[in-house]
Amino acid sequence: MSRNDYITCRELIDFIADYLDGTLAPEFRHEFDRHLTVCPPCVAYLDAYKKTIALGKAALKPSDEPATGQVPEGLLHAIRVARQQANQ
Ligand SMILES: [Zn+2]
Repeated sequence: MSRNDYITCRELIDFIADYLDGTLAPEFRHEFDRHLTVCPPCVAYLDAYKKTIALGKAALKPSDEPATGQVPEGLLHAIRVARQQANQ
C-alpha cells in the first residue's frame, strides 16, 4: 500500500467540520476514517476540535438557573478570608 492511498493531513483538517456535521460524502468519510487509523496527530486534532465545539455549545446554551445561589457557601467564605488577608 503506497503513501498516496491516504488523504493528507491538510485535506483531513480542511474537511473536519463536514466530517463532524455528517455532511461529508461517504467515500471521503471512509478515507477520513482510514487516515485517522494511521495518523495519531490527526486523531488528537479531531479530539481537540470536538472538545472546542462542545465548549462553544455549552457557552451558548441558555441557562434556566438563576445566577445567584450557585456559589457554595464554603467558597464564599474562602473568598472573604482571602480578601481580609490581602487587606492586612
Ligand atoms: Zn494526519
